[in-house]
Amino acid sequence: MLPFIDLATQRARLQPKLDQAIAKVIEEGRYIFGPEVTELEERLAQFGAAKHALTCANGTDALALPLMAWQVGEKDAIFVPSFTFASTAEMPAHLGAHPVFVDIDPDTYCMDPAHLEKAVEWAKAEGLNPHTVIAVDLFGQPADYPAIAQICKANGMKLIADSAQGYGCTLNGQHPAEWADVTTVSFYPAKPLGCYGDGGAVLTQDDELQHLMKSLRNHGEADERYYYARIGLNSRLDTIQAAVLLLKLEIFADEIKGRNVAADAYAKGFGDVVKAPKVIEGGVSTWAQYTIEVEDRDAFRAKLAEHKVPTAVYYPVPLHLQDCYAAFKQMPGGLPVTEAAAGRVVSLPMDAYLEGERLEQVIAAVRASV
Ligand SMILES: *Cc1c(COP(=O)(O)O)cnc(C)c1O
Repeated sequence: MLPFIDLATQRARLQPKLDQAIAKVIEEGRYIFGPEVTELEERLAQFGAAKHALTCANGTDALALPLMAWQVGEKDAIFVPSFTFASTAEMPAHLGAHPVFVDIDPDTYCMDPAHLEKAVEWAKAEGLNPHTVIAVDLFGQPADYPAIAQICKANGMKLIADSAQGYGCTLNGQHPAEWADVTTVSFYPAKPLGCYGDGGAVLTQDDELQHLMKSLRNHGEADERYYYARIGLNSRLDTIQAAVLLLKLEIFADEIKGRNVAADAYAKGFGDVVKAPKVIEGGVSTWAQYTIEVEDRDAFRAKLAEHKVPTAVYYPVPLHLQDCYAAFKQMPGGLPVTEAAAGRVVSLPMDAYLEGERLEQVIAAVRASV
């Protein structure tokens, strides 16, 4: 099989610096909140065009931090897509709020602003308080932030950009932090900016919110050690992971370009025989996944496997159809676009180093398998 994500080429590119950076942290012994963590936070804020960045343990906690800071709870409606990874709806539910699932645009797979407006009206009629929208930069492309931010403003709602897959994406040259109160990031190894374990971050322009989230990620500590101003979490990023990410961030802009070159080649190579992904006008994707649609997915995947091309399905069962969310009342009528996409999507190999023979092999296999 070809690799689904080639991490080895990146590692070879960054050697021997990676080993040296990790060895340095081990030598110096500041495994928690070492200087690399602070430096990474400065660089992450800069790269994502935000005033502040704060690292945390993973992209799931990154969603919890702002929701905890805002003290969401019962009767608070948090509007989320259903066509996303578990975390987006999991954290609102964990914190006692009510996830309300919103349908997606059939071409971008990101939240549909028109359906969001309907969901907000429905939630109000149900006696819920429209509190926050979590828009997901699915597969790496920016959600429709101008439209979503306007709906948030009109209804007094907060906006979180779940950019776990999309950190580094832009819309009309602006990062999600231009519109969102908080942008959340994951450094899970398979994400476009991944570390060698778990990691995450939150970005914000808001000094007060940054202060609250900083306290929450470290047990809710007050200004003095062992005094607690609130009930928080243990959600720190290890210094070793920060050292790895500092090196990876240096080449990240170049890698995003590489992913876009590969995505363009894919579209040119088989866009006439399968439904290739579309990026919102003015958007630049980080291509966390390259996701196409086919009629008979099982047969297509089996044929690709015969050609040694691995595939994955993100996501086979949308969250609103999972039993564990059944207790949360939803708008009648379901989410037709989400449900149709879940039955047809299939993701192909994608990374910054996808080129040459490997790329041609995937294109030829796709053409031979439809
Ligand atoms: C990966 C992912 C997360 C969670 O990130 P972890 O670091 O794995 O906790 C959240 N939201 C989306 C959309 C993701 O893809």
